[in-house]
Amino acid sequence: IQRIVVKVGTSTLTTENGHLNIEKIKKIVLELSNLQDKGYDVILVSSGAVGAGMGLLNISEKPKTLAEKQMLSAVGQVSLMQIYQTLFKEHNKIIGQLLLTKEEFSNRKRYLNMRNVCNAFLKRKIIPIINENDAIVSNALKIKVGDNDTMSALVSGLIDADLLIILSDIDGLYNKNPRKYEDANLIHMVGDINEDIKRMAGAEGSKFGTGGMITKIIAAEMVTKIGTSLVIASGDDPKNITRIVEKENIGTLFV
Ligand code: ADP
Repeated sequence: IQRIVVKVGTSTLTTENGHLNIEKIKKIVLELSNLQDKGYDVILVSSGAVGAGMGLLNISEKPKTLAEKQMLSAVGQVSLMQIYQTLFKEHNKIIGQLLLTKEEFSNRKRYLNMRNVCNAFLKRKIIPIINENDAIVSNALKIKVGDNDTMSALVSGLIDADLLIILSDIDGLYNKNPRKYEDANLIHMVGDINEDIKRMAGAEGSKFGTGGMITKIIAAEMVTKIGTSLVIASGDDPKNITRIVEKENIGTLFV
């Protein structure tokens, strides 16, 4: 493994009231910095902008209008990146922000341009932190990827990643929603993403996340087709990132 994309969801980055969990972010930054020191190329796809905005403005309810949500994402994106910058700096790492839309992947010229930019980052050992440009795009404009699970899969293709790690508030894919069914079992490995697997993922996510399990399965479908493995694991303990890279059996592995 050489190139690793790590996607951290809202549920991993924020606390119960929707605000940013700084202690958690610190641990994630430590893991990613360690991986880079070991010679890996590291790319972070991070949600959490809306949560950061809510924290800054002291709002604890989900935004009600699209414009309000977009405004919160703009406010929060700045503060999220400021936090990442400060924390990564403690490990002597430089970061850069890339706010993307679907256009970066559907328009060939923009795709090639983006790929060059990403490779320029990695060449200089700068850690790209990627998010959808939520303040600019909306579903109605039809240029939105829509969720960062799909975004992380697209980014994995763009930079030819060997491994995509999606950290969530759950330790992997269960055969049914574990929040509803006590007897749900964790699936350790998936080699064939068929209808049964998709049915297990259902449609619901957590309170502040946007994707749910199904977008993670779609991401798995996308990356495994191009030879990139994907692991869905719990972000509760960010050390899981290193454990996964070192091939410990954690979470659900899609090959
Ligand atoms: P994130 O913000 O990390 O992207 P989401 O809340 O969007 O996380 O998605 C994870 C959630 O999906 C889980 O917490 C769980 O409530 C839900 N879920 C639904 N079906 C399943 C399943 N079969 N296995 C695991 N989680 C599931």
